[in-house]
Amino acid sequence: MTSSILVVAEHQNGSVKQVTYEAIYAANQSTTEEHTIHLAIIGYEVGSLIDELKNSGVETIYSIDHEECQHYNPEVYSRALMQIIEQSQCEGVIFGHTTIGRDLSPIISANLDAGQISDVTAIHQTGDQILFTRPIYAGKAFEQKAFTRTPWVLTIRPNNIQAVEDTETTAENQVIEYNRPDSLRTVIKNVVQKSTGKIDLAEAKVVIAGGRGVKSTDGFKPLEDLAHVLGGAVGASRGACDADYCDYALQIGQTGKVVTPEVYIACGISGAIQHVAGMSQSRLIIAINKDPEAPIFKLADYGIIGDLFEVVPLLTEEFRNA
Ligand code: FAD
Repeated sequence: MTSSILVVAEHQNGSVKQVTYEAIYAANQSTTEEHTIHLAIIGYEVGSLIDELKNSGVETIYSIDHEECQHYNPEVYSRALMQIIEQSQCEGVIFGHTTIGRDLSPIISANLDAGQISDVTAIHQTGDQILFTRPIYAGKAFEQKAFTRTPWVLTIRPNNIQAVEDTETTAENQVIEYNRPDSLRTVIKNVVQKSTGKIDLAEAKVVIAGGRGVKSTDGFKPLEDLAHVLGGAVGASRGACDADYCDYALQIGQTGKVVTPEVYIACGISGAIQHVAGMSQSRLIIAINKDPEAPIFKLADYGIIGDLFEVVPLLTEEFRNA
């Protein structure tokens, strides 16, 4: 029997997010049965996104393209997605563990009466069982879970699972007519947070994070320069956000974003457990702090004891000339 898995594509500013390609890879790993993978794209003027995704190895791209889907609205998106789920007859639905994925996936699970496993960082097969690994206790331990029945819903943490490469096959595009839901809310204005860079923090391969040690909004400037040279994104501790040095959109940690870049550079961050919860899975951690006793050094692969305002510009210069 062939099972069918639906991946929910995420996009921003007219581009497909990397986590979509990772979710397609995850879909291939999520079953031992013969399977087909389908993709759901919801948005407005999504033609170029369909073009971008048509060779990603999926069988069908179900798209709902409507002005009312331009901005994320849980009622509109969940209704639209349920239409696609019905059409695709899927047994599993996969989202990125992103702001939208975290909001939308439980609505879909409840609608489908499905079991959900969230924030998956790895997928393994043992015998004929598929095990999904996810962090627990703020990243201090991992658990492995399995689904015992269908339908199921999965969210995968960005930057942890391999992305699919383009294939020779071309997906069929099925346009689904948008059915306006009896929505209690409407989006009046989309407030775009001032961003320090073009790269999405959750998907960045390099993150330069600033803490209370940066001392001011201007104190983030050397971090932004380093992020620019390394092609990375700037993040922050809650200490820096609470002090109003930067926007809460940059906050990393238990109550902020979870990041798993290849390189994480913590500048003037003490390493409180709530911060560590959001970055401990980074592949390489570098800490710059003038206090040799700072807890962040216990976690760091490399530590630089020094003033970040001296160290960060030196690193920027070195990487620029490298
Ligand atoms: P501090 O702890 O004040 O550390 C500043 C560091 O900068 C110090 O180690 C100091 O030595 C160093 N420093 C100062 N000047 C320099 C310099 N010139 N050069 C180099 N180093 C310098 N925090 C988060 O980050 N994310 C969360 O999601 C989060 N969620 C929370 C949820 C709850 C329920 C609670 C109670 C707390 C939460 N916190 C969170 C807050 C957390 O406990 C810490 O207070 C916070 O992480 C501290 O931020 P910080 O490391 O920037 O500041």
